[in-house]
Amino acid sequence: MDLLEYQAKELFAQIGIPILPSQCINHPADLKGLKIPYPVVLKSQVRAGGRGKAGGVKFAENTIDAVAAAQAIVNLPIMGDYPDVILAEAKYNADREFYLAVVLDTHARRPVLLGSNKGGVDLDAVMEQMQVVVVDRSFSPFYARRLVLKMGLQGRLIQSVSQIIEKMYRLFVDKDLDVVEINPLGVSADGSVMALDGKVTVNNEALSRHPDVMELLQKHAPGLINLPGLTLDHNGDRANDGPHYRPQKQDAVKNLNFHLMDLEGTIGVLSNGTGLMMATLDLIYSNGSHPARCLDVAGDFQGGWLADQFCERMEQGLELVLDCHRVEVILVNLIGGLTPSDRIAEAIIKVLEQRSRSPAYSPIPVILRLVGDPLSPAIAERLARFQITWIEDLEAAIKAALEQA
Ligand code: GDP
Ligand code: MN
Repeated sequence: MDLLEYQAKELFAQIGIPILPSQCINHPADLKGLKIPYPVVLKSQVRAGGRGKAGGVKFAENTIDAVAAAQAIVNLPIMGDYPDVILAEAKYNADREFYLAVVLDTHARRPVLLGSNKGGVDLDAVMEQMQVVVVDRSFSPFYARRLVLKMGLQGRLIQSVSQIIEKMYRLFVDKDLDVVEINPLGVSADGSVMALDGKVTVNNEALSRHPDVMELLQKHAPGLINLPGLTLDHNGDRANDGPHYRPQKQDAVKNLNFHLMDLEGTIGVLSNGTGLMMATLDLIYSNGSHPARCLDVAGDFQGGWLADQFCERMEQGLELVLDCHRVEVILVNLIGGLTPSDRIAEAIIKVLEQRSRSPAYSPIPVILRLVGDPLSPAIAERLARFQITWIEDLEAAIKAALEQA
């Protein structure tokens, strides 16, 4: 699970990675009491990357600018997500930007250090210069230095950037993280360095060992994401801390305990049960494609949902997957249990029908694979009218989804 940028930066500060003075803004009006001197940068706190390019990072010279920029950010979805909070931060004049990361290579089962001397929002440029050092024995500062030299850094930067990587590595180990990323690490004209953006992915399995990280996460936790052994419920204090940006769906579904995963591809997936979901994702990958938002409608409940509950979950789940802007096609792969296939199909039709009434609606094809009792012809006929293709064979369903993506 990903921390928000401001949460990642709290961890950076604890370990001595330099960050700028900043302040969380819960409402644009709070900018009137801003304690950081202008100019500032305002940053949408969503988990998706690419905020800069999407317009989620704005600079402001004064309060009037800042309030307008904050209004714009509040109303700007990034990959389907709206921010609950904005980070206001002192502006930093970076001469150069680097990319740094410590990630777990799950294949090699080793931590890997990544570094590029072209950091920033242009990912192709970042990747072109990417250097890799595998930490194949117990860590020593030597690994950090090797990365920095491979990045071609010189002079004082060798020492200062190495030290940042060492701290990132320590954080990675101390907190059982899957990813620690700084992009960009700003380098000023005088050669000092500053983490301008941070991404931290915590290992869900290890989270119970780190109550401090859990507490950080709970501050602005997405209620719809549910981790094993951890139920995130964010209504408590948020209910009293002033107006919220979105009194919308997320709050309505937070008690449904969906398991939701956001990946980088274009195929949305709805499935019931972890095993079926994983098998579906495997098939998508093995056919050379990539899933986007994936949602397990079964959630935590191991028994069977009653038909009404299941249909409600289907509707909410489908809405969530449709909300993800990356999704070009949705593969619904379900093993029906207590719920008749017709009812499941009707739930899907209901959502698409409602959406189709909006003038801004652009249809997203749905491939429906249902194991259970056969659909009635009437329902089958209605499916077609909403671009829902009903396919019984799983392989054929995957192929159909790939063709549409
Ligand atoms: P991302 O697009 O989601 O990765 O968002 P970032 O936080 O990385 O911001 C995008 C870009 O805005 C960065 O690559 C920087 O070039 C710039 N940026 C972000 N914060 C600051 C800052 O405090 N000062 C300056 N000068 N630029 C910043
Ligand atoms: Mn960034």
